[in-house]
Amino acid sequence: MTAVTYDLLIIGGGINGCAIAREASLLGLKVLLIERDDLAAHTSSASTKLIHGGLRYLEYYEFKLVAEALRERERLVNAAPHIIRPLTFVLPQENSLRPWWMLRIGLYLYDFLGGKMSLARSRGLRRSDTAYTAPLKGGRSGFVYSDAQVDDSRLTVLNAMDARDNGAEIVTGIALESARREGGVWRASLSDGRTVEARAMVNAAGPWVHLLLERLGVNAKSNVRLVKGSHIVVPKLYEGDHAYILQLPDRRIIFAIPWQGQTEIGTTDIPVDAPEDAKIDASEISYLCDAINTHFIKQISPADVTATWSGVRPLYDDGASEAKEVTRDYVLELDTSGPPLLSVFGGKITTARHLAEEAMGKLGPAIGVQPHQVTRMRVFPGGAIAGFDHFLAQVRLTWPFLGDARSARMAHAYGAMLGEMLHGVKDEAGMGRDLGGGLTEIEVRWMRDREWARSAADALDRRSKVGLTLNAAERSTFEHAWTALA
Ligand SMILES: Cc1cc2nc3c(=O)[nH]c(=O)nc-3n(C[C@H](O)[C@H](O)[C@H](O)COP(=O)(O)OP(=O)(O)OC[C@H]3O[C@@H](n4cnc5c(N)ncnc54)[C@H](O)[C@@H]3O)c2cc1C
Repeated sequence: MTAVTYDLLIIGGGINGCAIAREASLLGLKVLLIERDDLAAHTSSASTKLIHGGLRYLEYYEFKLVAEALRERERLVNAAPHIIRPLTFVLPQENSLRPWWMLRIGLYLYDFLGGKMSLARSRGLRRSDTAYTAPLKGGRSGFVYSDAQVDDSRLTVLNAMDARDNGAEIVTGIALESARREGGVWRASLSDGRTVEARAMVNAAGPWVHLLLERLGVNAKSNVRLVKGSHIVVPKLYEGDHAYILQLPDRRIIFAIPWQGQTEIGTTDIPVDAPEDAKIDASEISYLCDAINTHFIKQISPADVTATWSGVRPLYDDGASEAKEVTRDYVLELDTSGPPLLSVFGGKITTARHLAEEAMGKLGPAIGVQPHQVTRMRVFPGGAIAGFDHFLAQVRLTWPFLGDARSARMAHAYGAMLGEMLHGVKDEAGMGRDLGGGLTEIEVRWMRDREWARSAADALDRRSKVGLTLNAAERSTFEHAWTALA
């Protein structure tokens, strides 16, 4: 059997692999992306879910990274207004940790480093900000600034959808078994028994980047540091749509952020040996609870935790002594000792588009493609809406039977794609059976047929976050209904 030949074979369906697939397909390349689990099954669904410049990186003089991330934040807020929402952060002052002037200068830089911004600039906390200060212990001074919140796994899927709409082949549940350079191309064996040929390959295996290089017999110049980060979810800790960034005695910071009607708290920074070590442990849960209890009047304990998630950051090893200090910037390593291989070390959800543009800037010339800017101004699938509030009002008017909560959830998740999904649906009966948590047949089929969902977990935990609200019995009912879905 002759192998199909691609221009580019991408290993890994996290945010970086999918963003590169989008960029490359828009440049007209014939792309195959393989992911051995689900899209965003690992780090790209375990983030804090912020589209941010990274205020704390300024302390490590990462001005270039912060400026680039802020520019990307602005682009993303406009390109995916359905799944990305502006978020106000409250930063309480802790004189013993960082003086007022230091935070003021940091926030001033944060406001201006990225150039022209549509999000509100920072300011001091005012007496009238009682909604922000009331949940906190003591009379608080501090600051208010802006960043944005994203559904990380859905952003990954939107990258993949845009890539597919431009001709890329995206396959999940398939691993790269082995690959070798032969006759001027990569010959790759896949876990489904297929052999494919590609003129170039991208290693976007995230925390597995090194293991994959080892398997390919390629020596890398760069190293990764694997650093675990965990989050806990507790019932709503305070009223309001805003988030908190809290300074801790060890000089780390953690966030408390509204998430799916509850509060998400994270993260930790724990060096680990293997990508598979992405599991929260009891000491992390205590650490996060203690951190909240230091700042908030309402006290929490491990018994309040309703959900957790952990991910392993594949950080580029810059030799920093502590995990919290390791750079969050990325490095792209191009090996041209034969057909090109580009490996991705590090990165952020926020900077994935920029990383992809740079990846094609490096790789393109090596395979005779002239890279140009194809995604800078490009809207993501579903993102062509004129303001989220206006769009939501239209959704409620067009499909009143969805109800308030479900129309908001679906408007966020699908944006303008809702018109296609619900085309011709006149009433609740047209949505089909509710498989659990308000996910009806029409939506679940969409996830399966259009968004690569292959299991109940893909639908509950990554295509939607409905899994967070289901108990074990409801989850099991959903799993059965998923299996029976025609
Ligand atoms: C706790 C935490 C909080 C974070 N918070 C933020 C944040 O708020 N904002 C932000 O911008 N960034 C954040 N990040 C960073 C961001 O999440 C990561 O940089 C990003 O998700 C990495 O994506 P990736 O595509 O490189 O890796 P991954 O998402 O892990 O994807 C790699 C994929 O490769 C696949 N793979 C590996 N080997 C093979 C093989 N042989 N064959 C096929 N497939 C293979 C894996 O299954 C995996 O799905 C955070 C990270 C962590 C851990």
